[in-house]
Amino acid sequence: MPELPEVETVARTLRPQVQDRYIGKTEILFARTLQAGHDLLPLLTGAKIVNARRRAKVLLLDVLTAAASRDVNSEPLILAFHLKMTGQLFVHGLEVEPNKHTKIVFGLHSEQEQALQAGGVKLAAQTNTGSMDNQPQARLFFDDMRTFGYCRIMRPKDLQDWAFWNKLGLEPLEHSANELAERFAAKKGRIKNVLLDQEVVCGIGNIYADEALFRAGIRPDVKTDALAPSRLLKLGTEVQAVLQESIAACGSSIRDYRDANGNVGAFQNTFKAYGRGGEPCTLCGTIMTACRVAGRGTCYCGKCQK
Ligand SMILES: [Zn+2]
Repeated sequence: MPELPEVETVARTLRPQVQDRYIGKTEILFARTLQAGHDLLPLLTGAKIVNARRRAKVLLLDVLTAAASRDVNSEPLILAFHLKMTGQLFVHGLEVEPNKHTKIVFGLHSEQEQALQAGGVKLAAQTNTGSMDNQPQARLFFDDMRTFGYCRIMRPKDLQDWAFWNKLGLEPLEHSANELAERFAAKKGRIKNVLLDQEVVCGIGNIYADEALFRAGIRPDVKTDALAPSRLLKLGTEVQAVLQESIAACGSSIRDYRDANGNVGAFQNTFKAYGRGGEPCTLCGTIMTACRVAGRGTCYCGKCQK
């Protein structure tokens, strides 16, 4: 599953391709992928995409709806995409047709007037409703092979009412290492479970949990209350460092992850712990242990990590 650095990379690579473009026709090719906001679908026609950004592992497109008349102001909406296992967002030219994994298609126009004329909503198994005379410049595809991903169309207040959203923990790169350490200390349990708990600190999955614990010299199955504050601070620092290094390398590509340009990340080439069970530790040469912690495959060095 894409974690914080991968979703951040998608946002950064998608932004220049969608920003300041207008949504024309929206085609929902797989009904279940649109998890919420069906009533807001018509408002997307003519809406301007103003930003692509990330919170936790969720990719957000901020849009501004077209003003319905001089008396009605445009309003902000948010398209939230959770990529889950295999979700991908790509902008394609018109020569690329949706494939069997394409779940939602958004027409993208450079002019609002064209977008409004081309607009309309096509639901799965429906016939075409938009005009064929106004071809978009490009199209944004949400592809998802495993279909666990989803899109929600929301007003800002819907975002505030979304239980998942409200429970999200600290953004690890927007708070100090000290604050992260305090959050870790406040949660009882094995430290890897705590790292993976999105309600404590968000965006960390199996890869960056194993890597941060290795760098901090902490065994994944140690309980948080057995860790001195200085060791939790070290972990907070290493969580931030590994996430930042991975973002700089455009994330880690294990199986399906690609950025919005279709490129793979490079951080997987520098893994010190994740997936390295049975291989020698890069620090001391001890064979790395593979086990299960927090229900997840976990690798650590029994000598360097205590
Ligand atoms: Zn070692």
